[in-house]
Amino acid sequence: MIQIANVSKSYGSFDVLKDCSTTVNKGEVIVVCGPSGSGKSTLIKCVNGLEPFQSGQIIVNGTSVGDPKTNLSKLRAHVGMVFQHFELFPHMSITENLAIAQIKVLKRNRDEAVDKGLKLLDRVGLKAHAHKFPGQLSGGQQQRVAIARALAMDPICMLFDEPTSALDPEMINEVLDVMTELAQEGMTMMCVTHEMGFAKRVANRVIFMDHGRIVEDDSKDAFFANPRSERAQQFLAKIL
Ligand code: ADP
Ligand code: MG
Repeated sequence: MIQIANVSKSYGSFDVLKDCSTTVNKGEVIVVCGPSGSGKSTLIKCVNGLEPFQSGQIIVNGTSVGDPKTNLSKLRAHVGMVFQHFELFPHMSITENLAIAQIKVLKRNRDEAVDKGLKLLDRVGLKAHAHKFPGQLSGGQQQRVAIARALAMDPICMLFDEPTSALDPEMINEVLDVMTELAQEGMTMMCVTHEMGFAKRVANRVIFMDHGRIVEDDSKDAFFANPRSERAQQFLAKIL
C-alpha cells in the first residue's frame, strides 16, 4: 500500500530524512516512534505529498507521490490524515465539518454526505453531538470527530501524527480505542505515536527514527523484546 524507497530530504544543508526505506502492506499497522526532531512528522507528510522530498520514491497504492504529473489533491482525498491538533473548522457544526470535504472534493450530494458523516460520528460514539460546534467538545471528542471526518472520505490508508499527544490523559484512551477498532477492521495505518501500550496491542511493526534515519524497522515483538540500536534501547527505557 505504501512503499518508501531511499527517501532523503533536506532543508538547505540540514538533512531531515536520510535514505529512509520501508513498506507498509495492506492492512498493516505501523507505529513510528523516536525522539523529537528525528523526522517522524516529515516522513508522514512526505507520504501524502504535504512535504516535497529531493530523492528517492514514495508509491501510495500505485501512485508515485513525488512524480510532478501526480494529482496530489486527488491522492490526498483518499489518504486520511489526523494531526496532533484537531484541525476542525471552528465556525462549522460537527455535521458540517464531516460533510464539507465529501461535498467539495468528492462531489457527493449534501444528503449523502451528511448521512455518511452521521454514521461515522455514531461509530466514534458521538452521534448526540452532531449539532454542536468544535469548541463545545472536549479535545478527545474533537479528535474522534477528526478521525470520523477522515474516514468519511473512504481512505485507502490512514496517517496519524501524534493524535493523542495534545490530550489530557483521561482522553487519550478514547482516541486510542477508536484507532484500535480501525486497525482491527483492517485499515492500513501509519501512526506516529509514543503510546507504547497501543503499539504493543495493535502494531504489526515498529519503526524507530533517529536523526532523520530509520534505525529500526522490526516486528513489534522483536522491537520490544530486543531493540537493536542503543538509541532505541535508551528511548524505550525512558518512556516505558
Ligand atoms: P519529529 O516529528 O520527529 O519531531 P520533524 O519531522 O517535525 O520531527 O522535524 C525534523 C527536523 O526537521 C527537526 O529538527 C525540525 O527542526 C526540522 N524542520 C522541520 N520543518 C522544518 C522547516 N520547514 N525548515 C527547517 N527545518 C525544519
Ligand atoms: Mg512530529
